[in-house]
This record gives sequence, C-alpha cells and structure tokens, in this order.
Amino acid sequence: MRRGNRPFGMLRGVVRAFCPDCGDIEVRSDDVTLRRCVETRHHTFRFRCPVCSMWSIKDAGSGVVTLLLRAGVHVEHWNLPLELRERPEHDRPIDHAYQDRYYAVVAQLPTLDR
Ligand SMILES: [Zn+2]
Repeated sequence: MRRGNRPFGMLRGVVRAFCPDCGDIEVRSDDVTLRRCVETRHHTFRFRCPVCSMWSIKDAGSGVVTLLLRAGVHVEHWNLPLELRERPEHDRPIDHAYQDRYYAVVAQLPTLDR
C-alpha cells in the first residue's frame, strides 16, 4: 500500500495522516470521516489538514478501516447514483463524434445576447 493512502499510526482520538503539501500531520479523529460505498464496499477516508486546511481523500484498505474505526472516526455510507442502473446497456460510450454533435447543438441554442 502506498504510504500516502495510509494513516500510519493512531493515538486515541488522534489520527496521524499524510498531507500532500505538509507531509506527516495529526488530525483529530472527530475531523476524519470514513466513507463506505454500499454497493462496491470500497472505503475511503477524508480529512482536512489542520495546517493548510486542504481536504484530502484517500483510499482505505481493510487494515486502515480497522485502525480508523478503533480511533472512533465518523462513518458515512453512500450509494451509487440510481441513474447507473437506468442506463440502457446498448448505449455506446460517448466518443468525440458525439461530443462534436453535442457542441454543435448547444451552439444553436438561443442565449440572452441573441
Ligand atoms: Zn496540509
């Protein structure tokens, strides 16, 4: 596992993490959220760096999930958008030709200055 995705140690109520700008930091566990996608069971966690205030989102493997839960972080469960199930399977992926047609149609739409 890459170090940048892993909180590398825990004290009670404190999560040691890695900020891309500031390096090794400590974040209060109240300021860390573990997110779990219900359908894929994929976990990520997010925190705001107390030094530079930038948000970071990292993947969380099972070991990290265990550590974060032990530290008492908040847990959010989220679902993939329902629209993903509504998409007809015969639709082709959007390609450059489709994009060109889309922009041509959009360019014909009336605007306030026309
Ligand atoms: Zn930072």
